[in-house]
Amino acid sequence: MGEVFRLGLTGGIGSGKSTVATLLAELGAAVIDADAISRQLTISGGLAMGAIAAEFGATFVTPEGALDRDRMRALVHSDANARRRLEAIIHPLVGQQTLAQAERAMDLGHHCIVFDVPLLVESPSWRARVDHVLVVDCTPEIQISRVMARNQLPRADIEKIIASQASRAQRLGAADSVLFNVDLTLAELGTEVRQLAPRFGL
Ligand code: ATP
Repeated sequence: MGEVFRLGLTGGIGSGKSTVATLLAELGAAVIDADAISRQLTISGGLAMGAIAAEFGATFVTPEGALDRDRMRALVHSDANARRRLEAIIHPLVGQQTLAQAERAMDLGHHCIVFDVPLLVESPSWRARVDHVLVVDCTPEIQISRVMARNQLPRADIEKIIASQASRAQRLGAADSVLFNVDLTLAELGTEVRQLAPRFGL
């Protein structure tokens, strides 16, 4: 991949990943958002929709041609095999699209590519694709209060999402660097990011 620094950015829900990604972008990084790529695959006309219709049937496709998310969520929640079949369609496409975006970023002259991947720690193939893992760390209480404020979600729903993600200890165990995003103002977080940035080729 030449002279480019591939930074994997991860953290639990509400930890501050997107905020850190934006700060890194301001310093010149190209940010690739794995969740956004994944969502694009299943909108109307998305690259995964043909394979999803063939694998799961037309009942999982809305009249507009997008994935019926509620129906699919209910299926994969109760059927681990269905989840694997869905992932076998989505994950390789996310990998291809990510690579294509990374190549475009390099052509544009970016020296640091940030892969914003919420489930990076859960995914060995992702960890192998980056040079360095930066974890945005935060206490569960702060995750809950940030997400409650941002999304107006009930506390119990956020607790469930946190429980379904890698634990704080697992994430810290996979980290090459940690940004502890607790008791920091946004300005202070910016200062911390700027201090780390030279290590990432920025
Ligand atoms: P998700 O996984 O849900 O996408 P995330 O890890 O990307 O979350 P952000 O969206 O960056 O998290 O942050 C969650 C919310 O908390 C945002 O509204 C953000 O502005 C706020 N936030 C993050 N860090 C701080 C901070 N240090 N001080 C104040 N607010 C913060």
